[in-house]
Parts: sequence; C-alpha cells; structure tokens
Amino acid sequence: MAQAVKVVAITGASSGIGAATARRLAADGHRLFLGARRTDRLEALTEEIAAAGGSAAFQRLDVTDAADVRAFVSAARERYGRLDVVVNNAGVMPLSPLEALRVDEWDRMIDVNVRGVLNGIAAALPVMRAQGGGHFVNLASVGAYEVSPTAAVYCATKFAVRAISEGLRQESTGNIRVTLVSPGVTESELADSISDPAAREAMQTYRAVALPASAIADAIAYAVSQPAQVDVNEIVVRPAASA
Ligand code: NDP
Repeated sequence: MAQAVKVVAITGASSGIGAATARRLAADGHRLFLGARRTDRLEALTEEIAAAGGSAAFQRLDVTDAADVRAFVSAARERYGRLDVVVNNAGVMPLSPLEALRVDEWDRMIDVNVRGVLNGIAAALPVMRAQGGGHFVNLASVGAYEVSPTAAVYCATKFAVRAISEGLRQESTGNIRVTLVSPGVTESELADSISDPAAREAMQTYRAVALPASAIADAIAYAVSQPAQVDVNEIVVRPAASA
C-alpha cells in the first residue's frame, strides 16, 4: 500500500543530514518545508527537488529565535494546509575541553541544540493538537548516551534532547508521535564549527569512518512512513566499523 503523503518541516535543511532527509522524503512523495539561515543553499535544494518532480519550499530560519520558529511553522501550515511532521534537526558542535572555557560556544550549543528543539515543539505542538495529530523527529546523537572528552557540553545538549523527547512522548500518548534519531559519525559540515585545534584534530581521525548522510535520512524516512498507530521511539545508527 502506498504511504500517506505528509507535510514535513525540516530545520537545518541547508546541509548534511537535513538536506539528505529533504531529498529522501521528497523522493518518497512528501511535501517539504525547509528552514536554515543559508537561504542560497535552501533555494538550490528546493530547485533540485522540484526538478526531480518533488514538492518543496523554504523560509529563512534561526531556530534560536522563538518568533522565527513560530513564523516558520505557520508558513509551512499556510502553504500546505497542515503540518504532519517536524524534523528538529538543526545543530552545532564546536567541541572543546571544558578547561578551555569557550563559554560563548557552550551558549551557542545550548541555544541551537536545546532551545532550538524546544522552540520547534512550542511552535508546532498547538498546530498538531488542533489538527488531531502530528509527529516530531528530534535529532540527538550517540552523544546522548555517552560522554567523551571535549564533548561534555555537546553531549549535555543531546542528553537534553533525549530527555525532552522522552518526556514529550510520555505526555503525548495517542495522536502525537515522537522519534529520537541518534546518529553516530556521519558525513556533514558539523565538525567545521570546531575552533579548538586539539578537538579539531581528534575529530578528523574519528570522522574517518563516517556514514553517508543518506543513512540517517533512511532512518528518518522509516519512522515517518509508519502507520498512525506505530510510534518509533528511538533509532541509533552507527557506522559498522565504530566501537
Ligand atoms: P551540518 O553542519 O551539515 O548541518 C547542521 C544544520 O543546522 C545546517 O543546515 C545549519 O544551517 C543548521 N543550523 C545551525 N544553526 C542554526 C540555527 N541557529 N538556525 C537554523 N539552522 C541552524 O551537520 P549535520 O547534518 O551533521 O547535523 C544535523 C544534526 O545531526 C545536528 O543536530 C547534529 O548534532 C546531529 N548529529 C550529527 C552527527 C554527525 O556526525 N554528522 C552525529 C550525531 C548527531 P545554517 O548554517 O544554514 O543555518
């Protein structure tokens, strides 16, 4: 049986996992609304999806700004008449040892990775409740399960995303579904934000066995494609070569 066509809003769709997810879900016939700050990237991706016969639109989005996220969600609903799925994917990872006291980078991770997800939930939950249901797909990480050196704050933000997702799931039985997707190392631009030289060098070795972003997009597509009574709660995807 063909799966239902859904309206899916994706934050952080301008690169990496978000862009791969947009391509994959558009190919499955879903209607996409894409957000990020780099609108040139979103415009190119939207055109690529349209040229392949898919349906996509975009709007500039800064997930740290609650009003911006509300406007993004409203625009998605206005464009397509409903909003079935929000993929809270936008994230940053400027790793460094705590001793380095890169407090501005700690704040940025908390603002994007935690407040960004909360802003997405706050904006979309009322819309989903009013229309009788919806689905949140929140991107965490293997760092939501274990802490490693230089990654304390990043892992803390992803532990938080996991806690928020589980809380939302427990409180939303019935018509709101919640899926936590936790990738291991995956090809993307995520490590570009690392300014600490030692953390940057360590990450280059770690990323030698990265998954393609399409592997995470496939996991998200699996959760999105399930029938309404099936709630896929957590998916962890690691490269086969990783410990
Ligand atoms: P990328 O850096 O390629 O993508 C991150 C996306 O987030 C970009 O589209 C960026 O867009 C967007 N973004 C960053 N800040 C903001 C903001 N303030 N407002 C809106 N969008 C923002 O990395 P990934 O694709 O890897 O990251 C996607 C998610 O996957 C993140 O949550 C990350 O933590 C998670 N993850 C990734 C792993 C990996 O190894 N790649 C492993 C585990 C988890 P723009 O700059 O245009 O705004």
